[in-house]
Amino acid sequence: MINTNNQYNHKKIEWSLIEEKWRHKWDEQEIFNSDPDFSKKKYFITVAYPYPNSPQHIGHGRTYTLADAHARYMRMKGYNVLFPMGFHYTGTPILGMSRRIASGDKELLETFQYIYHVSEDAIKSFVEPIKIASYFHNEIKLGMKEMGYSIDWRREFTTIDKLYSKFISWQFNTLRKKGLIVQGSHPVGWCPKDQNPVSQHDTIGDVEPDFNEYILIKFKLDDGYIIPTATLRPETIYGVTNLWVNPNVEYVRIQIDNNERWIVSKEAARKLEFLNHKVAIKSSIYGKEIVGKYVEDPIRKDLIPLYPASFVESNNGTGIVMSVPGHAPYDFQAIEDLKKNVSLHNEFVGLKVDVTPITIIGSDDYYYADVNDSILISPAAKIISKFKVKDQEDPQLEKATNELYSHEYYKGKMLQNTGKYVGMPVSVAKDMIKNEIISNGIAEIMFELINKPVRCRCGTECVVKILNDQWFINYGDKNWKKLAHECLNKMDIVPEEIRQEFNYVIDWLRERACARKSGLGTKLPLDEDWIIESLSDSVIYMSYYIVAKYITNNNSISEDSSKLMIHVNNVDALNDSFFDYILLGNGDVRQVAAECNISISLIEAIRNEFSYFYPLDARHSGRDLVQNHLSFFIFNHVAIFARENWPRKIVVNGSVLMEGKKMSKSLGNIIPLRAAIKEYSADAIRLAMLSSAELLQDADFSFDAIKGIRSKLDDIYDIALEYSMVKSKFGSSLFSSIILSEAKTEIEDRWLLSRLQNHITDITASMDNLRVRKALHDILYLLDQDLQWYRKRITAKNRDDSLIAVTLSLFLDNRIRMLAPFAPFISEEVWEIIGGKYDSIIFAGWPIVDEDKRDPVAEESEQLIINLISDLQNILKVTKISPTKIIIYTSARWKQQIYQKILEYILLENKTNFGDIMKELVKDPETAKVKNDPKLIRNMIEDILSDPIEARNRRLKLTFFDEIFPLNDAKKLLSLESGNAQTEIIVHSEDEIQKYDPREKSKYSRPFKPAIYIE
Ligand SMILES: [Zn+2]
Repeated sequence: MINTNNQYNHKKIEWSLIEEKWRHKWDEQEIFNSDPDFSKKKYFITVAYPYPNSPQHIGHGRTYTLADAHARYMRMKGYNVLFPMGFHYTGTPILGMSRRIASGDKELLETFQYIYHVSEDAIKSFVEPIKIASYFHNEIKLGMKEMGYSIDWRREFTTIDKLYSKFISWQFNTLRKKGLIVQGSHPVGWCPKDQNPVSQHDTIGDVEPDFNEYILIKFKLDDGYIIPTATLRPETIYGVTNLWVNPNVEYVRIQIDNNERWIVSKEAARKLEFLNHKVAIKSSIYGKEIVGKYVEDPIRKDLIPLYPASFVESNNGTGIVMSVPGHAPYDFQAIEDLKKNVSLHNEFVGLKVDVTPITIIGSDDYYYADVNDSILISPAAKIISKFKVKDQEDPQLEKATNELYSHEYYKGKMLQNTGKYVGMPVSVAKDMIKNEIISNGIAEIMFELINKPVRCRCGTECVVKILNDQWFINYGDKNWKKLAHECLNKMDIVPEEIRQEFNYVIDWLRERACARKSGLGTKLPLDEDWIIESLSDSVIYMSYYIVAKYITNNNSISEDSSKLMIHVNNVDALNDSFFDYILLGNGDVRQVAAECNISISLIEAIRNEFSYFYPLDARHSGRDLVQNHLSFFIFNHVAIFARENWPRKIVVNGSVLMEGKKMSKSLGNIIPLRAAIKEYSADAIRLAMLSSAELLQDADFSFDAIKGIRSKLDDIYDIALEYSMVKSKFGSSLFSSIILSEAKTEIEDRWLLSRLQNHITDITASMDNLRVRKALHDILYLLDQDLQWYRKRITAKNRDDSLIAVTLSLFLDNRIRMLAPFAPFISEEVWEIIGGKYDSIIFAGWPIVDEDKRDPVAEESEQLIINLISDLQNILKVTKISPTKIIIYTSARWKQQIYQKILEYILLENKTNFGDIMKELVKDPETAKVKNDPKLIRNMIEDILSDPIEARNRRLKLTFFDEIFPLNDAKKLLSLESGNAQTEIIVHSEDEIQKYDPREKSKYSRPFKPAIYIE
């Protein structure tokens, strides 16, 4: 007998044994090794390779797990899936770590010891950088295996392998031939200590140094010194009324570039040096010493005052800023506050604060009057009153500023007091004014980090440096951008909403420094003093996985197999012609073979394999890599490969939070993946990562969720065991001897299998769009609800027949196959328990909808019972009756005909208006009698409109639906659900003349809404 209560004794799942067993089986069968098979469609999927300077933690797992579920799904759909993995050693972080270990850095030592649980001996070895890389490489690889990632490990490599370096040299030579590697002076994020450019991979917290071009506008003091101020809005130069200086900051007088003398903050003097200025410090001076002095405005030639302001920070810009109270809410408010407070500042008693905002930009919303209008209120004043700003500390000020800036940029026009720019849109005037004031020496350009402080992994604060005569990849090239857009337009971007971000990045990218002075990696072939950096040597390596399979370090390699493999010692002979041939199809194979000293057949085999697996079908990565890696990946592919080998899809996912918080060492909530697997099992972790959020959202990893998922998996396992017992009761010949036929099945059997087809349709659609959260929700919860209902029905009917086993076997078989991409270990185990036909569930394939099993009548029948129970229970709850007899009246035939007509009006003619429908019904003599019962029609319309679309469509197809049969079938269940198993259930049709209807309830019945009378 199938147990229906949840009293089944859980057999405790030995997760670690199950995991080990299946890892071993997969390895043994080499299930994940993919070679070209021209009879099958291929699917090539990669995910950004890991950087081995720490073990993987829960936060890393999401992208890899998603890619693996994707790979497993495509495999089950019949594709020959290639899912490989490499390790990214390139760059300075490992060197930096090694140095910190050598110097006894306490924080790092403790991280290794207490968070990552690295043994003391291993930590000691970390003074050698390569030992760090190989230790964590191994650790990450083990973790990936333990997570069940379906990787073809024969293709594993590191980015410091000799042949990989040759491949990267080839990439750079190819780019250079196309004119995309340029030498020049460009700004870069820079670590002053390492003397190296820095990008996302080199910084603490993985932040890309983001800098912006500021305009330095120069104001003259009467002693000949110049005060430069930095702004992002050069057009507001026409509205400057004063400068702000911090009285308590120490400034310096400098000689700059041998021609001018400036006053700037100390920090600014240092920043200017990195921007290629020659800076000589003469003396220092406190801000308060120049408060109250006047400078000459470079445009109007007016004298304007220097006012004190504590909000001016010495490390922003030059440490002195210009004030435009007409258009900058902060400046306006600061003037107001200063007017109020100046008498309180003992130091500045007597300072006259006399400033009138100058309005230089007009727009419909913030400026109406003519510029000569004396009652003019400035846009800044207006928006400040709109946002009810109280003082400089008011957070509303930030919002007001952002709104006014963007409003004026997009809608503002220059006014009469801006000379030749009058009438021009701000967005146009801005650049023209900038160019003019730079060319006549009033202004200069200064680059500044906008997301500072950004710290290098060595701990030093980064700056912007202008790098001279340096090698750059020219992502600013217009034609290259055009190709990148062409590729992006053809690609699937999942989720689609991230496409705009790619468009933006492609437009915005400019020259990018591609080499470093130190670090692991490949020497720049054009200039061997430099090493190619990590975001430049990781953009086309997907193609290298094809080559990597053919490299061996096996010295006992036989004569025969040496024809099929390249021994690592023979790699030296390979040159660019090798890659030109296998990756681009260029050159003459005999010549390549001769030059590189390998056989023609081997070269052709690699070329064939490349042609088979390329292009890449899906690239997975975290969202933070859209702005660099993923965009570079598109750029480099379109530059190097022919159109037919351009990548087809990018999948981007959000990050992982731990119990709602960002993971960080300081919060101590980083959990190494391998430790988590031991504690919670790989499957539960995989599901927790994928089920808690849609792709772009951050997934919240929580222990409660994990426990919930574990118990769901326990249930599925139990059902499998339970089912296998039922099966053994009926003997193993069950499947061949019993054919699921209409004659033998009951409604609930047909219902469960029909519902299953709907779920397969939905889940497949979700998987095709990688809406994994939705897919998992259906697999774990919706299918479970159906199963619960099915059990309720068979229990109430006291069924004990072999059809149950057949129905359950089909249900379980399909459910477990849909779960397999997500929870591979438990799925394999259950598959084995239920006697699945193949060695691995992967070969069983993804479920296919069986149209013959769709049964709208069965679905309608069970829905009727479900709805009736819910109505019944509501009535019982409200009336508090303990029933002895329940009479159910199904609607008369004529009501059903009218219902069908209304359904047709609504669905086929799109009529939902009561009056319209009534008119139609009355017109037809067959239905004309409804004019006496408008309420019934109104109710039926409401019934239909409140039903889900799929129910409406289903009912449209049913020409006649007999409600009596399913209600009779469920009598026992209805009694049980009424709270009294002895309750008598009587079902009547409204059409019956002889029926028990003491309160005339039957006339209230409507199709799919039987009337209920309780005694
Ligand atoms: Zn550094």
